[in-house]
Amino acid sequence: MSEEKKVIIRRLNAAKDLGKFMADYYYELDAASKSGKQKIAWCTSVGPAEILRGMGYLIYFPETHSAMLGSTRMATDLIPKANAMGYSPEICSYLTADIGAFLENVTPLANIFKGIESIPRPDVLVYNTNQCRDVQDWFNWYAKRFNVPVVGIETYRNVPEVTPVHITSISRQMENIVQPLEDVAGRKLDMDEFKNAVALSRECSNLWDKCLAAAAARPSPLTFFDGTTLMGPAVVGRGTQKAIDVYQLLLEELNERVAAGEGAIEDERYRLYWDGMPVWGRLSMHSKLFAGLQANVIASTYCSSWIFSALDAGNPFESMARAYTELFIVRSDAYKEKYIQDKLAFFQCDGIIYHDAKTCPNNTNCRYGMAQRLEKTTGIPSLTIHGDLNDLRLLSDEQTKTNVEAFIEQLEENGKAA
Ligand code: SF4
Repeated sequence: MSEEKKVIIRRLNAAKDLGKFMADYYYELDAASKSGKQKIAWCTSVGPAEILRGMGYLIYFPETHSAMLGSTRMATDLIPKANAMGYSPEICSYLTADIGAFLENVTPLANIFKGIESIPRPDVLVYNTNQCRDVQDWFNWYAKRFNVPVVGIETYRNVPEVTPVHITSISRQMENIVQPLEDVAGRKLDMDEFKNAVALSRECSNLWDKCLAAAAARPSPLTFFDGTTLMGPAVVGRGTQKAIDVYQLLLEELNERVAAGEGAIEDERYRLYWDGMPVWGRLSMHSKLFAGLQANVIASTYCSSWIFSALDAGNPFESMARAYTELFIVRSDAYKEKYIQDKLAFFQCDGIIYHDAKTCPNNTNCRYGMAQRLEKTTGIPSLTIHGDLNDLRLLSDEQTKTNVEAFIEQLEENGKAA
């Protein structure tokens, strides 16, 4: 394993179209923030974006910004600024990096997009605690800072089965945030625009689902590491036609790859599943590490989190309540285990990588014996990587490399190669 080998990872042409999508998205927000001509809502990544679109808001997602702080490796230096204000180094490093960046008046947007100097100013903030409580604290901090309203949906956690009680409660909460949002927007919720946004979100979700499912082919045309950036439009653009347009291009290219038998990496021998957050500041390093061992991380819980198959324009509030409560992160361990088991079978995986992200227990599923239980049920071995999504002080590159190499050797010995 010590021999250095040239690593071949085939980039997708559609990544350029997705990059342009993201640039247009941030420029549109920047123009609105500067001119004040269109209202801006900040929303959590699995928040009720479709309602906001039904009132003409542009939507900014702080988590995506924080992921950029991670991938540009700005986050680690900024986290202590928020720690100094009383936000523990143990809590979400999206939150601490983002608040730290705000306090320091820096943003990766300024380095990446010429002419953008700062994040867009919010007129209102909207969260859903379906993913965690951290978003509520994060958004409340900004609401005070900008002196703007914040509204939220308090949701269920650890849900084994989504029942009518859940749906009624969450959809009522969604209906209840309409009035305060209308007050800020200065207009009514347009039911046609709202339903249209739900329909577009559903279409976007279907396309993204198909893109991810393309990785079931052997060899896989996609890697998890590509997926973490390709999923940008599914997060920030759901409810818009533009997101659908770019995913049609991506899906076409992935299907072409599958038809041509072209894999994302050279000589795919091992197929792995990733559970948990990516390590944003190590995407490239991890991508090369696995590809260099002829291992492709082809599927993940994380990238699949923006598939909302329950959305139904004919029943917008209830279907949103269902879609945003059926999410993996909201569910019980028993549900999660079955979910991962199905994914392992569908993608024909040889192993699982669990990322134990120190500051995100919500997206970490290997702390209560799940890895061992799943291994017993499926016979598929796993490796846990200790690290973090944004705080690079919480991981050891050497240890990760050694552990991953040993894990692939173990697969080799077990005769797991394709
Ligand atoms: S789910 Fe994890 S990473 Fe995302 S906002 Fe919550 S604590 Fe942070």
